[in-house]
Amino acid sequence: MSGALNGVAVGGVASGDDGLPWIDSHIGGQRVRGGGAVWVKQDPARGTPIGRVAAADAADIGTAIAAARDGQARWAALSGAERGRVLQRAAALLRARNDALAALEVADTGKPIQEAAVVDVASGADCIEYYAGLAAQLNGQQLPHPNALIYTRREPLGLCVGIGAWNYPLQIACWKSAPALAAGNAMLFKPSELTPSTAVELAEVYLEAGLPPGVFQVLQGQGPTGEALALHPEVAKVSLTGSVPTGKKVMAAAAGTLKRVTMELGGKSALIVCEDAELEEAVSAAMLANFYTQGEICTNGTRVFVQRALLPRFLARLAERTALLRVGDPADPATEVGAMISAAHGEKVLGLIRRGVEEGATLLCGGGRVDVPGLAGCFVAPTVFTDCRDEMTLVREEIFGPVMSVLAFDDEAEVIRRANATRFGLAAGVFTRDIARGHRMAAALAAGVCWINNYNITPVEMPFGGARESGIGHENGQVALDHYTQLKSVYLELGRVACSYR
Ligand code: NAD
Repeated sequence: MSGALNGVAVGGVASGDDGLPWIDSHIGGQRVRGGGAVWVKQDPARGTPIGRVAAADAADIGTAIAAARDGQARWAALSGAERGRVLQRAAALLRARNDALAALEVADTGKPIQEAAVVDVASGADCIEYYAGLAAQLNGQQLPHPNALIYTRREPLGLCVGIGAWNYPLQIACWKSAPALAAGNAMLFKPSELTPSTAVELAEVYLEAGLPPGVFQVLQGQGPTGEALALHPEVAKVSLTGSVPTGKKVMAAAAGTLKRVTMELGGKSALIVCEDAELEEAVSAAMLANFYTQGEICTNGTRVFVQRALLPRFLARLAERTALLRVGDPADPATEVGAMISAAHGEKVLGLIRRGVEEGATLLCGGGRVDVPGLAGCFVAPTVFTDCRDEMTLVREEIFGPVMSVLAFDDEAEVIRRANATRFGLAAGVFTRDIARGHRMAAALAAGVCWINNYNITPVEMPFGGARESGIGHENGQVALDHYTQLKSVYLELGRVACSYR
């Protein structure tokens, strides 16, 4: 992994005798080896080590904060149009490096190359391009008043922290950094310890595009590094993508200095298929909503509610088509379902599958490990449970693997009540040909994003965020800029100070 991969320098200096490359942090415009704890990064599919990572320690964080302070002052002094130009160049560089970055993402995550080659890098570039266009449009309001000129300014917050999950590492780094940078902030980004590679490449891309050193930096680390950043008094905002328990910890740490927070957390979303739905479309969506990225997607529609009259035909097609999915080496372009991120996570997913069987659900497809010749990683067969009941563990808990629970329902009011009976509220989907019913149900579902007749589509123009314990705030869309700016009101007196004092 060190040296050049399709023209992109990746990795870092080889460490000692074993030849394992270092995957560094990126501080002040340079790759830097952290001074903290060291761990080995495994390829999830092969189960082999691919790099060594050293966490940023307190001194590294101090250096990065100082560089961010300097860089942010220079960056915020540019016009929005100038910032936008740099971001446009970064988006173009990302697209030019699509294949190398996609391959790196596959080695880090175990997801199929057929996905990474068209989604991961491209969706990051789309996002940077979108905010590049908005950078020059950040503005306030002028508010009419008889005695004053009143206006508002949108100002950057200063130093923002992004903390990423491991399922879409590069996309997450782009979704957080693009609006932050467009608004004139600096960002310190901590990738997941399981996927440290592509954020460093993004830092190189930004630098080459003309971003001043210190404006986007990458600090490698595990939970404690994230916690140190969330606690740091000079940080104005933390945006986390991760699980609900981590979200609660990060919010508590951020509360010490009343930092702003954006929380993109977990879910257990409902996909509702009404009896008038177009069957093949609904089956396609249910499969994508459970098996894409081997089920490791936060918004997945893992509770598939199907109206009773359609259930037999739905299950028949679902079983036929699920049996055709190719589980295998993520680097093979024919592979449709890759490896679980780690052996530990794979065991957790398999444990929840066993629990489903114990609790009385019926296995329609899958239900266990798949052996992929020559690869030591954990591969889980796309799994469908039927005869599920709402109280079952697999219906209540986020599994984050390729496991679908199918539940029967009879009428609209009932399915809305059952779909909403969860503390999560990330996403939901409805399949129906009845336009009024689609809108009515979307309005009634307790979720941050509702799709009608599709699932898991996240164009950058559309705000993305969870309700209830699934999140706070939004990424994407114009609204994300509000989360990275502070509104200032300015009042200019046009008359005289009304003073009754002597
Ligand atoms: P996680 O919560 O274990 O870790 C997320 C990040 O937080 C990692 O970088 C981790 O190092 C860091 N972290 C852990 N403890 C911390 C602490 N105390 N303080 C600061 N940072 C800390 O989540 P994960 O296993 O990486 O990702 C899977 C979870 O992420 C799932 O629940 C999934 O639903 C969620 N997710 C949500 C979205 C979304 O946009 N809503 C997207 C992807 C994943």
